[in-house]
Amino acid sequence: MVTAPDASRVFQEDLLKEQVAFVTGGGTGIGKEIARTLGRHGARLAIASRKRESLELAARELESEGLECFVDTCDVREPEEVERVVAGILAHYGRLDVLVNNAAGNFPASVRNISYNGFKSIVGIDLIGTYNVTKAVFEARLKDHGGKVVNISAPFSGMGVALQAHVAAAKMGVDALTRSCAVEWAPLGIRVNGVAPGQVADTEGVARFEAATGGAATGGPIVGTKQDIANAVLFLVSDAARFVSGQVFSVDGAASIDMLKIPVEPPG
Ligand code: NAP
Repeated sequence: MVTAPDASRVFQEDLLKEQVAFVTGGGTGIGKEIARTLGRHGARLAIASRKRESLELAARELESEGLECFVDTCDVREPEEVERVVAGILAHYGRLDVLVNNAAGNFPASVRNISYNGFKSIVGIDLIGTYNVTKAVFEARLKDHGGKVVNISAPFSGMGVALQAHVAAAKMGVDALTRSCAVEWAPLGIRVNGVAPGQVADTEGVARFEAATGGAATGGPIVGTKQDIANAVLFLVSDAARFVSGQVFSVDGAASIDMLKIPVEPPG
């Protein structure tokens, strides 16, 4: 487990003071932790996904910590729904500075067994959904005011991983979008980066993969926390990263570059 003494208190508390941050899929898992972390550092929050119930639950939890959270529902695959949510955020807060494209679908399936619809659905949510939300936020706000976008990717997007071809294909597309948007929009003061989490403890994605592989592919020594991922996002949207754009950061304790995974004895 990668841990710090108190990883939620690494940054200055008013880092994002007065800014508004929109996290898609912010009602659960890593997205909720990203929202909480940006909120704890001064941002006013907006979260959206399909299920109102989990969004409301998350908003109540965040509000009980003194954070401000606007909630609306949309399917990121539907541009009109996304545009409505973005207009709602702007009407509510009057600004929008940070977008985190975190919404994604995932289920383990081999290339041979996944249905046409299953493949299309993951590409639709992860890649086209990321495009839809980014485009809507760009048109409604960022093109005239600048801002920061972070796209949540996966470290295996550039590798071959069994049971994840659909996700890898979609996330590779997301990484391409990250780089192209960063280049096109740099002159407008918009920074676009990616964060590629490794295995993150206590998440749906890892639980599903564990169930499908009998634990064979997960539960290794390098498992991060949702806070580790949120901290990387916070750094990227802060002014500390003001000259960083078009990068996809693996936040995985070096797991994705450990090709042979040879067990090493602990020091001492
Ligand atoms: P999660 O809890 O399943 O979160 C996914 C979120 O996306 C949910 O809040 C879901 O809400 C939303 N969503 C799904 N389909 C949507 C749609 N069509 N429209 C709008 N929202 C939609 O997963 P997680 O494990 O926290 O993953 C978060 C991100 O990290 C994802 O981008 C994932 O690919 C990435 N990641 C995770 C891991 C890991 O170890 N868990 C590793 C690598 C990358 P609704 O159901 O309400 O729509």
